[in-house]
Amino acid sequence: MGCELFLCATPIGNLDDMTFRAVEVLKGVDFIAAEDTRHTRKLLAHFDIHTPLIHYDENNKSTVGKKIIARLLEGESAACVTDAGTPAISDPGADLVRLALEHNIKIVPIPGACAAINALIASGLETGSFIFVGFLPNKNFSDRLQALKDRRETLIFYEAPHRLQRTLENLFEAFGARRVTLARELTKIHEEFIRGQLGSIELDAPRGEFVIVVEGAPEAMVENFIDSDVLTIYNRLIDEGVERKEAMRRTAKQFGLSRRDVYQMTVKETEPE
Ligand code: SAM
Repeated sequence: MGCELFLCATPIGNLDDMTFRAVEVLKGVDFIAAEDTRHTRKLLAHFDIHTPLIHYDENNKSTVGKKIIARLLEGESAACVTDAGTPAISDPGADLVRLALEHNIKIVPIPGACAAINALIASGLETGSFIFVGFLPNKNFSDRLQALKDRRETLIFYEAPHRLQRTLENLFEAFGARRVTLARELTKIHEEFIRGQLGSIELDAPRGEFVIVVEGAPEAMVENFIDSDVLTIYNRLIDEGVERKEAMRRTAKQFGLSRRDVYQMTVKETEPE
């Protein structure tokens, strides 16, 4: 080992998911760059690993990143581990890889747990092609969702528990009542898969970590209907006395559209030129 950066996957909850190779690499490198040293210290203690740790995270990545690269260029080897799972997937590992490649440092991935992949394979949704979205941005998230709306691939999102309900509402608004699987606390004691439809999953006080896996746009949604069909159904519901918002919701569900789409179609039709 020398002048190499190992991207070392670590368990996402269950320590038995640590690989033999990961233990060997973490024992063999000169130092380990860890996102949360307290968390990683526990992991190292469990596997009897005594390699020195340095702290590398989102806040210090530009300064510490350069220091790591300088040490690698002097011939040392390092492993990058993040809080949990596969480094460079929704964490600062990706920046370290870019920096290392700018200096022609060899990158060696050490495979292991990744929340997105485990959520996907157990979701029951299409696994043949998928888009990993990760965390939605706080700002302009609706632009991002609109850009994804017609994609046929299964969509994978990460989200923090306190924002989960809001994000599910945003997904429903943007995509309509598509099938969804929530993968909660993967590999841990309370691992759970909640399968249902966007718009009808209610969770009180969600706890733990979640991956949201959403069905891609169905074919019918992209091309098999015309605006007048949507209007006919919407108007029929209104004539039956269904309240506007509910009529939009039901129409959206029937066509696999979002309420926003139905709103736009109906407003376009009813507003004077
Ligand atoms: N690099 C990690 C990976 O390989 O999955 C992801 C890191 S990202 C900062 C953390 C997010 O991953 C969480 O907010 C959650 O969405 C997801 N996650 C991580 N561990 C999880 C678990 N055990 N169960 C469900 N989701 C998890």
